[in-house]
Amino acid sequence: MDCLFCSIVNGDIPSKKIYEDDAVYAFYDIDPQAPFHAIIIPKTHISSANEINSENSFLIARVFEAAAKIAKENNLDSGYRIVNNCGNDGGQTVGHIHFHLLARRNLQWPPG
Ligand code: AMP
Ligand code: ZN
Repeated sequence: MDCLFCSIVNGDIPSKKIYEDDAVYAFYDIDPQAPFHAIIIPKTHISSANEINSENSFLIARVFEAAAKIAKENNLDSGYRIVNNCGNDGGQTVGHIHFHLLARRNLQWPPG
């Protein structure tokens, strides 16, 4: 399968690693929208939030466990935002579920 983030996980496309364990990989976004902008993904391919089910939801829990570790390791003490874009209207451009972790600036709410 031709998937950009699967290719990043298996090393065919280079990335700047932030965090890795057996289930999760995190790397710096190539087009950062905040001074700290990580992309956190399950290593297993799930195409979007719409494909989360009782069989694979533990991987999403693992993503959030990793996010908490990343925040602590990078001293994101004043807070951060985790974003998942799903589908066209959600602004999803890569078809492998991913969570943006944005930090080190004050983020507006509601988002644009
Ligand atoms: P989304 O629009 O939610 O699907 O987010 C996809 C994100 O992947 C965007 O923020 C892109 O900047 C980022 N991105 C695309 N290609 C790469 C890459 N090769 N390395 C790192 N980040 C990437
Ligand atoms: Zn994939």
